[in-house]
Amino acid sequence: MKHFAIIGSGISGLTAAYLLSKKHKVTVFEKNDCIGGHTATVDIEKEGVKFAIDTGFIVFNDKTYPNFLALLDEIGIGKTPTEMSFSVHNCQTGLEYNGHNLDTLFAQRRNIFKPTFWLLVKEILRFNKLCKSIFEQEQYIDGLTLGDFLTQHNFSEFFAEHYILPMGAAIWSSSLAQMEEVEFTFFVKFFHNHGLLNIADRPQWYVIPQGSRSYLTPLCAPFKDDIHVNANITGITRSDDKVHLHFKNAASQTFDEVVIACHSDQALALLDDANENEKMVLSAMPYSANTVVLHTDKKLLPKRKKAWASWNYQLSHDRNKAASVTYNMNILQGIQSKHTFCVTLNQKDDIDPNEILREFTYHHPVFSSASIKAQQQRHLICGLNHTHFAGAYWHSGFHEDGVRSAVEVAKRFDCYLAIDDEHA
Ligand SMILES: Cc1cc2nc3c(=O)[nH]c(=O)nc-3n(C[C@H](O)[C@H](O)[C@H](O)COP(=O)(O)OP(=O)(O)OC[C@H]3O[C@@H](n4cnc5c(N)ncnc54)[C@H](O)[C@@H]3O)c2cc1C
Repeated sequence: MKHFAIIGSGISGLTAAYLLSKKHKVTVFEKNDCIGGHTATVDIEKEGVKFAIDTGFIVFNDKTYPNFLALLDEIGIGKTPTEMSFSVHNCQTGLEYNGHNLDTLFAQRRNIFKPTFWLLVKEILRFNKLCKSIFEQEQYIDGLTLGDFLTQHNFSEFFAEHYILPMGAAIWSSSLAQMEEVEFTFFVKFFHNHGLLNIADRPQWYVIPQGSRSYLTPLCAPFKDDIHVNANITGITRSDDKVHLHFKNAASQTFDEVVIACHSDQALALLDDANENEKMVLSAMPYSANTVVLHTDKKLLPKRKKAWASWNYQLSHDRNKAASVTYNMNILQGIQSKHTFCVTLNQKDDIDPNEILREFTYHHPVFSSASIKAQQQRHLICGLNHTHFAGAYWHSGFHEDGVRSAVEVAKRFDCYLAIDDEHA
């Protein structure tokens, strides 16, 4: 039996701890005063009614989250179907639409008479068809970015700026300019796998009843007495057969193995004796900050209620500005209230301060050709020197990816999800 230090208590760290604790001893260190990382449900009370609202991780689906679904099943957590819809509104021109169905697509009825809007619909269909055919025939071009692809295939600026770039920017919390730099192969695989190239036949999306934090207690049950919050680790060093964690109070603790399950930049900052490969790989996968505000100011949503979707993107004239997207939590979590609870990314100045309930800063990985290349070099650093790296950034940046990265680490020590153990 080995003793593992797990650094970080997001889905990646907790899944690693859960799986490894099946056969080994684990100790979890979290620098915040609570566990969960981006699983951050908050309690809100309005006129005596209590609501549990998700401000980070919210949704998952029945198609591209196999490991997360198996994990939920194993720890006895259920799921509630939700609606995933996407709207775009341009405050300068007043254009708004919600792609949920034909009625909401033409929520702004005058768009029926606008040739530019019909051209947008036509280009969406052409884009989907072209991308599906590239995916099916694996016609990938090394180094091609989404921006290159749009230019090569003569997609209009209107289509790029009112559909594909905002949708990608909302998914990865990036700017429109950063979206253009995303590697096309990574983009097309993600869009295809998530059914985003289909008009029908999309996956069913779910939320966790009573908020996403509900899975934390059963997931942590096997090691609940071995979790240290407010941990202040100043550095990590490795010797021949041990890993040493150094703390602010000058104390050190020694472990057989360490799973570093915080973000790539945070992981590199912790490694006092980082080798050249660790520096090269981890520094090539940057994160960007997003301000996140939970509020009840409806003006962050499209003007027409019919155009309200679960994800609402507000276009800005600044293409380098991080995604301004508002999640309608009443739609996503099925909340019944006269208040409309919204979670808005990167648009705090537009929110009425009297309507603000909570504020956070979350970091999201930035995907580019360089970071995709670095992902493929994980084997150069992960599993060597008694050091393992887990985190959603190793794959597409979502909850399934955090679980998957932890499953990959745990497998090295003969620890599996129950569903995989049957086949191991
Ligand atoms: C606003 C927002 C909404 C999102 N919504 C969804 C969604 O609906 N569906 C989905 O699948 N994904 C969503 N995501 C993506 C989300 O980031 C991933 O799903 C996943 O939760 C990331 O998990 P992680 O374990 O990699 O990182 P994190 O959850 O960030 O966990 C890392 C942990 O490491 C800790 N840490 C950092 N440094 C140290 C240190 N030195 N010592 C100890 N601990 C440390 C941090 O405090 C944190 O708790 C969303 C992201 C954001 C920002």
